Amino acid sequence: MQSLQQIAACVAGYDPNALPVTKASEFIARLVPRVQAVESLAIRSALGRVLAHDLVSGIDVPSHDNSAMDGYALRSADLLGAADTLIGVAGTAFAGTPFGDTVAIGQGVRIMTGAVMPDGLDTVVPQEFTRTEADGRIRIPQGSVKPGDNRRLRGEDLARGEAALKAGRILTPADLGLLASLGHAEVAVYRRLRVAFFSTGDELRSVGEPLAAGCVYDSNRYTIWGMLTRLGVELLDLGVVRDEPAALRTAFTQAAACADAVITSGGVSVGEADHTKQIMAQLGEVLFWKIAMRPGRPMAIGRIGSGSQNGESSSVIGEAGHQAILFGLPGNPVAVMVTFYAFVRDALLAMSGATPQPLAPLRAVSQATLRKKPGRTEYQRGIVSQGEDGRWQVRITGSQGSGILRSMSQANGMVVLHHDQGDVAAGDLVDVIAFDGLV
Ligand code: AMP
Ligand code: MG
Repeated sequence: MQSLQQIAACVAGYDPNALPVTKASEFIARLVPRVQAVESLAIRSALGRVLAHDLVSGIDVPSHDNSAMDGYALRSADLLGAADTLIGVAGTAFAGTPFGDTVAIGQGVRIMTGAVMPDGLDTVVPQEFTRTEADGRIRIPQGSVKPGDNRRLRGEDLARGEAALKAGRILTPADLGLLASLGHAEVAVYRRLRVAFFSTGDELRSVGEPLAAGCVYDSNRYTIWGMLTRLGVELLDLGVVRDEPAALRTAFTQAAACADAVITSGGVSVGEADHTKQIMAQLGEVLFWKIAMRPGRPMAIGRIGSGSQNGESSSVIGEAGHQAILFGLPGNPVAVMVTFYAFVRDALLAMSGATPQPLAPLRAVSQATLRKKPGRTEYQRGIVSQGEDGRWQVRITGSQGSGILRSMSQANGMVVLHHDQGDVAAGDLVDVIAFDGLV
Protein backbone atom coordinates (compact mmCIF):
# COMPACT_ATOMS: atom_id res chain seq x y z
CA MET A 1 0.00 0.00 0.00
CA GLN A 2 1.42 3.40 -0.97
CA SER A 3 1.86 6.02 1.75
CA LEU A 4 0.10 9.35 1.33
CA GLN A 5 3.48 10.95 0.64
CA GLN A 6 4.13 8.47 -2.17
CA ILE A 7 0.72 9.24 -3.67
CA ALA A 8 1.34 12.98 -3.39
CA ALA A 9 4.65 12.53 -5.21
CA CYS A 10 2.74 11.06 -8.18
CA VAL A 11 0.43 14.06 -8.47
CA ALA A 12 2.18 16.74 -10.51
CA GLY A 13 1.86 20.19 -8.94
CA TYR A 14 0.60 18.82 -5.60
CA ASP A 15 0.28 21.62 -3.07
CA PRO A 16 -1.76 20.82 0.04
CA ASN A 17 -2.25 24.51 0.81
CA ALA A 18 -3.72 25.51 -2.56
CA LEU A 19 -4.79 22.29 -4.19
CA PRO A 20 -6.67 22.59 -7.49
CA VAL A 21 -9.84 20.50 -7.65
CA THR A 22 -8.43 18.32 -10.45
CA LYS A 23 -5.31 17.54 -8.39
CA ALA A 24 -7.40 16.65 -5.34
CA SER A 25 -9.49 14.31 -7.52
CA GLU A 26 -6.37 12.72 -8.95
CA PHE A 27 -4.94 12.15 -5.48
CA ILE A 28 -8.17 10.61 -4.21
CA ALA A 29 -8.45 8.33 -7.24
CA ARG A 30 -4.96 7.01 -6.45
CA LEU A 31 -5.73 6.63 -2.74
CA VAL A 32 -8.97 4.68 -2.69
CA PRO A 33 -9.00 0.87 -2.83
CA ARG A 34 -11.78 -1.17 -4.47
CA VAL A 35 -13.89 -3.68 -2.63
CA GLN A 36 -12.88 -7.21 -3.53
CA ALA A 37 -15.71 -9.35 -2.18
CA VAL A 38 -18.29 -10.50 -4.72
CA GLU A 39 -21.78 -11.84 -4.14
CA SER A 40 -24.32 -13.44 -6.40
CA LEU A 41 -27.77 -11.86 -6.50
CA ALA A 42 -31.09 -12.53 -8.19
CA ILE A 43 -31.16 -10.07 -11.09
CA ARG A 44 -33.97 -7.96 -9.62
CA SER A 45 -31.91 -7.41 -6.49
CA ALA A 46 -28.95 -6.23 -8.57
CA LEU A 47 -30.42 -2.95 -9.85
CA GLY A 48 -27.91 -0.17 -9.13
CA ARG A 49 -25.23 -2.65 -8.04
CA VAL A 50 -21.79 -2.94 -9.65
CA LEU A 51 -21.16 -5.85 -12.01
CA ALA A 52 -18.12 -7.82 -10.83
CA HIS A 53 -17.22 -9.75 -14.01
CA ASP A 54 -17.54 -9.17 -17.74
CA LEU A 55 -20.71 -10.80 -18.89
CA VAL A 56 -20.13 -12.84 -22.01
CA SER A 57 -23.14 -14.02 -23.94
CA GLY A 58 -23.42 -17.80 -24.11
CA ILE A 59 -26.16 -17.64 -26.72
CA ASP A 60 -27.21 -15.71 -29.79
CA VAL A 61 -29.97 -13.20 -29.06
CA PRO A 62 -32.28 -13.64 -30.83
CA SER A 63 -31.58 -17.33 -31.25
CA HIS A 64 -33.21 -17.50 -34.73
CA ASP A 65 -33.98 -15.16 -37.58
CA ASN A 66 -37.51 -13.96 -36.85
CA SER A 67 -40.17 -11.61 -38.08
CA ALA A 68 -40.34 -7.97 -37.00
CA MET A 69 -43.96 -7.64 -38.23
CA ASP A 70 -47.28 -9.42 -38.54
CA GLY A 71 -47.58 -10.28 -42.24
CA TYR A 72 -46.38 -12.83 -44.78
CA ALA A 73 -42.93 -14.38 -44.95
CA LEU A 74 -41.74 -15.05 -48.48
CA ARG A 75 -38.74 -15.77 -50.66
CA SER A 76 -37.35 -12.55 -52.08
CA ALA A 77 -36.49 -14.50 -55.26
CA ASP A 78 -40.26 -14.87 -55.85
CA LEU A 79 -40.84 -11.09 -55.93
CA LEU A 80 -41.56 -9.75 -59.39
CA GLY A 81 -39.67 -6.54 -59.98
CA ALA A 82 -42.07 -4.94 -62.45
CA ALA A 83 -45.49 -6.19 -61.30
CA ASP A 84 -47.49 -7.19 -58.22
CA THR A 85 -46.52 -10.60 -56.83
CA LEU A 86 -49.05 -13.30 -55.94
CA ILE A 87 -48.10 -15.99 -53.44
CA GLY A 88 -49.91 -18.96 -51.97
CA VAL A 89 -50.09 -19.48 -48.20
CA ALA A 90 -48.54 -22.73 -46.96
CA GLY A 91 -49.48 -22.23 -43.31
CA THR A 92 -48.92 -20.01 -40.27
CA ALA A 93 -45.89 -19.33 -38.04
CA PHE A 94 -46.69 -18.08 -34.53
CA ALA A 95 -44.24 -16.65 -31.98
CA GLY A 96 -43.21 -19.74 -30.04
CA THR A 97 -44.76 -22.15 -32.58
CA PRO A 98 -42.62 -22.33 -35.72
CA PHE A 99 -43.90 -23.44 -39.11
CA GLY A 100 -41.95 -26.67 -39.47
CA ASP A 101 -42.67 -27.77 -43.07
CA THR A 102 -40.81 -26.89 -46.21
CA VAL A 103 -42.27 -24.11 -48.31
CA ALA A 104 -42.56 -24.61 -52.07
CA ILE A 105 -41.44 -22.02 -54.62
CA GLY A 106 -44.16 -19.39 -55.09
CA GLN A 107 -45.52 -19.99 -51.58
CA GLY A 108 -45.27 -17.93 -48.40
CA VAL A 109 -46.28 -18.33 -44.76
CA ARG A 110 -48.54 -16.15 -42.67
CA ILE A 111 -46.24 -14.97 -39.85
CA MET A 112 -46.59 -13.15 -36.53
CA THR A 113 -44.09 -10.77 -34.92
CA GLY A 114 -41.34 -12.75 -33.20
CA ALA A 115 -42.11 -16.00 -35.04
CA VAL A 116 -39.12 -17.92 -36.42
CA MET A 117 -38.58 -17.36 -40.17
CA PRO A 118 -39.46 -20.60 -41.98
CA ASP A 119 -36.55 -22.27 -43.82
CA GLY A 120 -35.80 -20.62 -47.16
CA LEU A 121 -37.89 -17.49 -46.51
CA ASP A 122 -35.98 -14.25 -46.04
CA THR A 123 -38.41 -11.33 -46.26
CA VAL A 124 -41.63 -10.28 -44.50
CA VAL A 125 -44.29 -8.14 -46.12
CA PRO A 126 -46.43 -6.40 -43.50
CA GLN A 127 -50.06 -7.48 -43.41
CA GLU A 128 -51.37 -3.97 -44.17
CA PHE A 129 -49.57 -3.82 -47.53
CA THR A 130 -51.27 -6.98 -48.82
CA ARG A 131 -54.65 -7.96 -50.25
CA THR A 132 -56.22 -11.41 -50.23
CA GLU A 133 -57.45 -12.52 -53.67
CA ALA A 134 -60.67 -14.52 -54.27
CA ASP A 135 -58.60 -17.68 -54.73
CA GLY A 136 -56.92 -17.21 -51.33
CA ARG A 137 -53.58 -16.06 -52.73
CA ILE A 138 -51.91 -12.94 -51.32
CA ARG A 139 -51.25 -9.94 -53.54
CA ILE A 140 -48.05 -8.01 -52.75
CA PRO A 141 -48.07 -4.68 -54.56
CA GLN A 142 -45.02 -3.92 -56.69
CA GLY A 143 -42.29 -2.12 -54.71
CA SER A 144 -43.93 -2.59 -51.30
CA VAL A 145 -41.10 -4.70 -49.95
CA LYS A 146 -37.37 -5.20 -50.56
CA PRO A 147 -35.37 -8.40 -50.00
CA GLY A 148 -34.59 -8.91 -46.29
CA ASP A 149 -37.18 -6.38 -45.06
CA ASN A 150 -38.74 -6.88 -41.63
CA ARG A 151 -36.52 -9.80 -40.71
CA ARG A 152 -34.54 -9.69 -37.46
CA LEU A 153 -31.30 -11.62 -37.74
CA ARG A 154 -30.10 -14.27 -35.36
CA GLY A 155 -27.56 -12.73 -32.93
CA GLU A 156 -28.27 -9.15 -34.04
CA ASP A 157 -28.88 -8.06 -30.44
CA LEU A 158 -25.99 -10.11 -29.05
CA ALA A 159 -23.79 -12.66 -30.74
CA ARG A 160 -22.63 -15.70 -28.77
CA GLY A 161 -19.19 -14.98 -27.21
CA GLU A 162 -19.65 -11.21 -27.30
CA ALA A 163 -19.14 -9.18 -24.05
CA ALA A 164 -22.65 -8.01 -23.30
CA LEU A 165 -21.70 -5.96 -20.22
CA LYS A 166 -18.33 -4.95 -18.82
CA ALA A 167 -17.26 -5.39 -15.18
CA GLY A 168 -17.59 -2.14 -13.27
CA ARG A 169 -20.91 -1.25 -14.78
CA ILE A 170 -23.68 0.02 -12.51
CA LEU A 171 -26.63 -2.11 -13.52
CA THR A 172 -29.54 -0.23 -15.09
CA PRO A 173 -33.09 -1.42 -15.82
CA ALA A 174 -32.01 -2.14 -19.43
CA ASP A 175 -29.13 -4.26 -18.12
CA LEU A 176 -31.49 -6.35 -15.99
CA GLY A 177 -33.49 -7.03 -19.15
CA LEU A 178 -30.32 -7.92 -21.04
CA LEU A 179 -29.30 -10.35 -18.29
CA ALA A 180 -32.71 -11.97 -18.48
CA SER A 181 -32.52 -12.14 -22.28
CA LEU A 182 -29.32 -14.18 -21.86
CA GLY A 183 -31.09 -16.52 -19.49
CA HIS A 184 -29.31 -15.45 -16.29
CA ALA A 185 -31.32 -15.69 -13.09
CA GLU A 186 -28.41 -14.41 -11.00
CA VAL A 187 -25.52 -12.04 -11.45
CA ALA A 188 -22.19 -11.51 -9.66
CA VAL A 189 -21.84 -8.03 -8.14
CA TYR A 190 -19.41 -6.45 -5.70
CA ARG A 191 -20.59 -6.33 -2.14
CA ARG A 192 -22.04 -3.03 -1.05
CA LEU A 193 -19.62 -0.46 0.28
CA ARG A 194 -20.03 0.26 3.99
CA VAL A 195 -19.82 3.93 4.97
CA ALA A 196 -19.89 5.32 8.52
CA PHE A 197 -20.59 8.99 9.14
CA PHE A 198 -20.98 11.46 11.97
CA SER A 199 -21.07 15.17 12.68
CA THR A 200 -18.68 16.97 14.98
CA GLY A 201 -19.18 20.21 16.85
CA ASP A 202 -20.28 21.24 20.33
CA GLU A 203 -22.88 23.64 18.92
CA LEU A 204 -24.80 20.84 17.17
CA ARG A 205 -28.07 19.44 18.41
CA SER A 206 -29.95 16.53 16.92
CA VAL A 207 -33.51 17.02 15.72
CA GLY A 208 -35.91 16.32 18.58
CA GLU A 209 -33.63 17.97 21.14
CA PRO A 210 -34.30 21.49 22.42
CA LEU A 211 -32.13 24.12 20.77
CA ALA A 212 -30.06 25.98 23.37
CA ALA A 213 -28.78 29.52 22.74
CA GLY A 214 -25.98 29.54 20.17
CA CYS A 215 -26.74 26.03 18.96
CA VAL A 216 -27.87 24.79 15.53
CA TYR A 217 -29.54 21.62 14.44
CA ASP A 218 -27.28 19.09 12.80
CA SER A 219 -28.40 19.09 9.17
CA ASN A 220 -25.28 17.58 7.61
CA ARG A 221 -26.09 14.09 8.80
CA TYR A 222 -29.34 14.30 6.86
CA THR A 223 -27.89 15.59 3.60
CA ILE A 224 -25.06 13.05 3.86
CA TRP A 225 -27.57 10.29 4.62
CA GLY A 226 -29.57 11.32 1.55
CA MET A 227 -26.59 11.45 -0.80
CA LEU A 228 -25.22 8.12 0.46
CA THR A 229 -28.61 6.45 0.23
CA ARG A 230 -28.86 7.47 -3.41
CA LEU A 231 -25.43 5.96 -4.02
CA GLY A 232 -26.74 2.66 -2.67
CA VAL A 233 -24.07 2.11 -0.02
CA GLU A 234 -24.62 0.51 3.40
CA LEU A 235 -24.82 3.16 6.11
CA LEU A 236 -23.73 3.46 9.69
CA ASP A 237 -24.92 6.70 11.32
CA LEU A 238 -22.87 7.46 14.43
CA GLY A 239 -24.76 10.62 15.34
CA VAL A 240 -23.35 13.89 16.67
CA VAL A 241 -20.03 13.55 18.43
CA ARG A 242 -19.00 16.10 21.02
CA ASP A 243 -15.74 17.91 20.74
CA GLU A 244 -14.03 15.84 23.42
CA PRO A 245 -10.97 13.68 22.74
CA ALA A 246 -12.43 10.53 24.30
CA ALA A 247 -15.75 10.80 22.44
CA LEU A 248 -14.01 11.55 19.14
CA ARG A 249 -11.55 8.71 19.60
CA THR A 250 -14.36 6.25 20.27
CA ALA A 251 -16.35 7.44 17.26
CA PHE A 252 -13.43 7.33 14.83
CA THR A 253 -12.24 3.96 16.10
CA GLN A 254 -15.68 2.40 15.86
CA ALA A 255 -16.29 3.90 12.40
CA ALA A 256 -12.89 2.81 11.09
CA ALA A 257 -13.29 -0.71 12.44
CA CYS A 258 -16.51 -1.53 10.65
CA ALA A 259 -16.56 0.61 7.49
CA ASP A 260 -14.70 1.00 4.21
CA ALA A 261 -15.04 4.75 4.39
CA VAL A 262 -15.72 7.28 7.13
CA ILE A 263 -17.27 10.66 6.43
CA THR A 264 -17.28 13.40 9.02
CA SER A 265 -18.32 17.01 8.83
CA GLY A 266 -16.91 19.93 10.74
CA GLY A 267 -13.75 20.59 12.65
CA VAL A 268 -11.25 20.57 9.79
CA SER A 269 -10.81 24.27 9.05
CA VAL A 270 -7.59 26.05 9.88
CA GLY A 271 -8.73 28.07 12.85
CA GLU A 272 -10.45 25.16 14.57
CA ALA A 273 -9.70 25.01 18.26
CA ASP A 274 -11.33 21.63 18.52
CA HIS A 275 -9.84 18.16 18.81
CA THR A 276 -11.14 16.59 15.62
CA LYS A 277 -8.00 17.16 13.55
CA GLN A 278 -5.75 16.02 16.37
CA ILE A 279 -7.59 12.71 16.83
CA MET A 280 -7.75 12.09 13.07
CA ALA A 281 -3.98 12.53 12.85
CA GLN A 282 -3.42 10.23 15.85
CA LEU A 283 -5.50 7.40 14.46
CA GLY A 284 -3.99 7.22 11.01
CA GLU A 285 -2.35 8.92 8.14
CA VAL A 286 -4.32 12.07 7.38
CA LEU A 287 -3.65 15.17 5.28
CA PHE A 288 -5.34 18.50 5.87
CA TRP A 289 -5.94 20.21 2.59
CA LYS A 290 -6.86 23.70 1.54
CA ILE A 291 -8.53 23.16 -1.79
CA ALA A 292 -8.70 25.93 -4.39
CA MET A 293 -12.48 25.85 -4.49
CA ARG A 294 -15.51 27.67 -3.21
CA PRO A 295 -17.34 26.65 -1.17
CA GLY A 296 -15.51 23.85 0.60
CA ARG A 297 -11.91 24.93 1.06
CA PRO A 298 -10.81 22.79 4.03
CA MET A 299 -10.92 19.02 3.81
CA ALA A 300 -9.13 16.15 5.54
CA ILE A 301 -8.28 13.02 3.59
CA GLY A 302 -6.44 9.86 4.46
CA ARG A 303 -6.72 6.50 6.15
CA ILE A 304 -7.66 5.83 9.74
CA GLY A 305 -7.68 2.68 11.82
CA SER A 306 -8.09 1.64 15.41
CA GLY A 307 -4.82 3.39 16.19
CA SER A 308 -3.21 0.21 17.48
CA GLN A 309 -2.05 -1.64 14.42
CA ASN A 310 1.49 -2.73 13.91
CA GLY A 311 2.69 -4.24 10.67
CA GLU A 312 0.83 -4.21 7.35
CA SER A 313 -2.32 -2.20 7.02
CA SER A 314 -5.31 -3.55 5.11
CA SER A 315 -8.36 -2.15 3.38
CA VAL A 316 -10.41 -5.29 4.09
CA ILE A 317 -12.89 -4.86 6.94
CA GLY A 318 -12.22 -7.37 9.70
CA GLU A 319 -8.59 -8.01 8.77
CA ALA A 320 -5.81 -7.09 11.20
CA GLY A 321 -4.65 -3.53 10.63
CA HIS A 322 -7.82 -2.58 8.75
CA GLN A 323 -7.91 1.07 7.80
CA ALA A 324 -10.85 3.00 6.40
CA ILE A 325 -10.62 5.89 3.97
CA LEU A 326 -11.41 9.14 5.76
CA PHE A 327 -13.22 12.06 4.18
CA GLY A 328 -13.21 14.89 6.71
CA LEU A 329 -15.59 17.39 5.12
CA PRO A 330 -16.01 21.01 6.17
CA GLY A 331 -18.89 21.86 8.48
CA ASN A 332 -20.80 24.39 6.43
CA PRO A 333 -23.93 22.72 5.05
CA VAL A 334 -23.45 23.79 1.43
CA ALA A 335 -19.73 23.04 1.54
CA VAL A 336 -20.57 19.51 2.70
CA MET A 337 -22.75 18.87 -0.33
CA VAL A 338 -20.38 20.49 -2.81
CA THR A 339 -17.34 18.57 -1.56
CA PHE A 340 -19.38 15.38 -1.52
CA TYR A 341 -20.39 15.82 -5.17
CA ALA A 342 -16.96 17.08 -6.20
CA PHE A 343 -14.91 14.30 -4.57
CA VAL A 344 -16.67 11.80 -2.34
CA ARG A 345 -19.25 10.60 -4.82
CA ASP A 346 -16.67 9.53 -7.42
CA ALA A 347 -14.40 8.09 -4.74
CA LEU A 348 -17.17 5.94 -3.27
CA LEU A 349 -18.23 4.76 -6.72
CA ALA A 350 -14.63 3.77 -7.47
CA MET A 351 -14.40 2.01 -4.11
CA SER A 352 -17.62 0.17 -4.97
CA GLY A 353 -15.86 -1.24 -8.03
CA ALA A 354 -17.60 1.03 -10.54
CA THR A 355 -15.76 2.31 -13.59
CA PRO A 356 -15.64 6.10 -13.22
CA GLN A 357 -18.17 7.86 -15.43
CA PRO A 358 -17.46 11.58 -15.54
CA LEU A 359 -20.60 13.64 -15.09
CA ALA A 360 -21.65 15.14 -18.40
CA PRO A 361 -22.31 18.81 -17.69
CA LEU A 362 -25.08 20.68 -19.39
CA ARG A 363 -24.10 23.87 -21.21
CA ALA A 364 -26.48 26.67 -20.30
CA VAL A 365 -26.65 30.41 -20.97
CA SER A 366 -25.90 32.42 -17.84
CA GLN A 367 -28.75 34.90 -17.36
CA ALA A 368 -26.58 37.27 -15.36
CA THR A 369 -23.01 38.43 -14.90
CA LEU A 370 -21.11 36.17 -12.49
CA ARG A 371 -18.07 37.38 -10.58
CA LYS A 372 -15.33 34.75 -10.56
CA LYS A 373 -11.67 34.88 -9.54
CA PRO A 374 -9.34 32.74 -11.67
CA GLY A 375 -7.33 30.27 -9.60
CA ARG A 376 -10.13 28.36 -7.90
CA THR A 377 -13.15 26.30 -8.90
CA GLU A 378 -16.51 27.74 -7.88
CA TYR A 379 -19.74 25.86 -7.54
CA GLN A 380 -22.72 28.20 -7.62
CA ARG A 381 -26.21 26.93 -7.06
CA GLY A 382 -28.45 27.55 -10.02
CA ILE A 383 -31.88 27.02 -11.49
CA VAL A 384 -31.79 25.69 -15.03
CA SER A 385 -34.79 26.27 -17.25
CA GLN A 386 -35.58 26.36 -20.92
CA GLY A 387 -35.63 29.82 -22.49
CA GLU A 388 -38.19 30.99 -25.05
CA ASP A 389 -35.65 30.23 -27.76
CA GLY A 390 -35.54 26.62 -26.53
CA ARG A 391 -32.01 26.95 -25.17
CA TRP A 392 -31.05 25.99 -21.63
CA GLN A 393 -30.48 28.98 -19.36
CA VAL A 394 -29.39 29.24 -15.76
CA ARG A 395 -29.82 31.78 -13.01
CA ILE A 396 -28.11 31.69 -9.63
CA THR A 397 -30.22 31.08 -6.51
CA GLY A 398 -29.98 34.04 -4.11
CA SER A 399 -27.14 34.32 -1.65
CA GLN A 400 -24.30 31.90 -2.22
CA GLY A 401 -23.05 31.79 1.39
CA SER A 402 -21.69 28.36 2.19
CA GLY A 403 -23.99 28.04 5.19
CA ILE A 404 -27.17 28.82 3.26
CA LEU A 405 -28.68 25.43 2.61
CA ARG A 406 -31.80 26.97 1.11
CA SER A 407 -29.78 28.01 -1.95
CA MET A 408 -28.98 24.35 -2.50
CA SER A 409 -32.52 23.21 -1.89
CA GLN A 410 -33.93 25.73 -4.40
CA ALA A 411 -31.35 24.85 -7.03
CA ASN A 412 -31.70 22.10 -9.59
CA GLY A 413 -28.04 22.18 -10.52
CA MET A 414 -24.57 23.47 -9.76
CA VAL A 415 -22.91 25.96 -12.07
CA VAL A 416 -19.27 24.93 -12.25
CA LEU A 417 -16.90 27.83 -12.86
CA HIS A 418 -13.59 26.20 -13.65
CA HIS A 419 -10.17 26.88 -12.11
CA ASP A 420 -8.82 29.19 -14.82
CA GLN A 421 -12.14 30.79 -15.68
CA GLY A 422 -12.73 34.49 -14.90
CA ASP A 423 -15.92 36.60 -14.79
CA VAL A 424 -18.87 35.36 -16.80
CA ALA A 425 -20.90 37.86 -18.83
CA ALA A 426 -24.68 37.55 -19.17
CA GLY A 427 -25.28 35.45 -22.27
CA ASP A 428 -22.08 33.37 -21.89
CA LEU A 429 -22.35 29.61 -21.79
CA VAL A 430 -21.45 27.91 -18.50
CA ASP A 431 -21.21 24.29 -17.36
CA VAL A 432 -23.98 23.06 -15.08
CA ILE A 433 -24.19 19.73 -13.30
CA ALA A 434 -27.86 18.89 -13.04
CA PHE A 435 -28.97 17.39 -9.73
CA ASP A 436 -31.68 15.37 -11.39
CA GLY A 437 -30.30 11.92 -11.94
CA LEU A 438 -27.19 12.65 -9.89
CA VAL A 439 -26.52 9.77 -7.56
P1 AMP B 1 -16.67 24.01 11.12
O1 AMP B 1 -16.20 23.48 9.81
O2 AMP B 1 -16.72 22.98 12.19
O3 AMP B 1 -15.89 25.24 11.52
O4 AMP B 1 -18.16 24.50 10.89
C1 AMP B 1 -18.45 25.55 10.02
C2 AMP B 1 -19.88 26.00 10.19
O5 AMP B 1 -20.75 24.93 9.85
C3 AMP B 1 -20.25 26.40 11.60
O6 AMP B 1 -21.12 27.52 11.51
C4 AMP B 1 -20.98 25.21 12.12
O7 AMP B 1 -21.92 25.55 13.12
C5 AMP B 1 -21.66 24.68 10.89
N1 AMP B 1 -21.88 23.25 11.02
C6 AMP B 1 -20.91 22.36 11.30
N2 AMP B 1 -21.42 21.11 11.34
C7 AMP B 1 -22.74 21.23 11.06
C8 AMP B 1 -23.81 20.32 10.97
N3 AMP B 1 -23.61 19.01 11.14
N4 AMP B 1 -25.05 20.78 10.64
C9 AMP B 1 -25.23 22.10 10.45
N5 AMP B 1 -24.26 23.02 10.54
C10 AMP B 1 -23.04 22.59 10.85
MG1 MG C 1 -16.76 23.07 14.32
